[in-house]
Amino acid sequence: MDSKVIPLSVVNNKTLDSAQAANLKHFDISSALQTTLDFKQIITIFSEKIQTLIPHSGFVYQNTDFNLLYKKGIETRYACNYSLSIEQQGLGELKLMRQQQPFTEHDLEQLETLLCCLIYPLKNASLYQHAINMAHTDPLTQLQNRTAFDDAIRREYSLSHRNQQPLSLIFIDIDHFKQINDVYGHQCGDFALRSVAHWITESIRDCDMVFRYGGEEFVVLLSNTGLGKARTIAERIRHSIEQHTLAYEMQTLRLTASMGVSSLSGNETAEDFIKRADDAMYQAKKKGRNRVVVKA
Ligand code: GH3
Ligand code: MG
Ligand code: MG
Repeated sequence: MDSKVIPLSVVNNKTLDSAQAANLKHFDISSALQTTLDFKQIITIFSEKIQTLIPHSGFVYQNTDFNLLYKKGIETRYACNYSLSIEQQGLGELKLMRQQQPFTEHDLEQLETLLCCLIYPLKNASLYQHAINMAHTDPLTQLQNRTAFDDAIRREYSLSHRNQQPLSLIFIDIDHFKQINDVYGHQCGDFALRSVAHWITESIRDCDMVFRYGGEEFVVLLSNTGLGKARTIAERIRHSIEQHTLAYEMQTLRLTASMGVSSLSGNETAEDFIKRADDAMYQAKKKGRNRVVVKA
């Protein structure tokens, strides 16, 4: 298998400009790539546009910074790999594949100049994706924030109806949290919030989603999960929070949390579904805190 890594950042703008001027194909590819900030679309357009010059049957694009893996076509006998980067910033790895003949030196030379068209669109996509990620992340806990939850619930609500799969929610509110701030200080409160975020994340499966909903409130969204399983997960989270001891400076403290669980039923709206979990959480408070209340 042919494999090559080139630092594309050595191709400066001047080289790129002259290459574009010399070759209308480059201009055509660059223009097409400027129409999107979506990684998958960028790679797909690139693959289609170079098809006449560098025939290939598929590609694999991987970008670990953003957890992306896109594949088109099947793994074939011959392949060439490029690790793409600019100014020390990784932009992912691209593999082109074909079945019939190996990539020749001439193919690779041509491909390397064509790959230059890919660099700035990928860099722009990275900047955009990074900005989106920041807008969806709570800076204190690094969990997804309320905005991300609003997007996720809309998406999961539709998916649940389309695939006829259950969907459940757990609302979590730390008990008497104001006292932590009052007694130990706001910094300790922040530390407690980060710790609770960690314990919740540890208690759920990789496929479950956890968000910081507001101040000392968290929400867990459980796709393809019914009420019984959701209750079990809520109890596991409650137990984990109760069991841990926080050591802050020279003091130790314990926390508890109250939780409400609901499962999407029939044709109720997403708002009603959320409200039921929230109501259940308030019932848990009324009943004495540090407990899980399920509202079917
Ligand atoms: P309850 O058991 O009824 O939920 O009582 P509580 O004290 O937890 O609830 P309350 O709503 O009265 O207080 C929540 C507190 O959470 C008040 C607010 O100052 C604190 N809080 C919200 N966000 C943050 C934060 O980012 N950091 C810190 N340290 N405290 C926060
Ligand atoms: Mg609260
Ligand atoms: Mg509270």
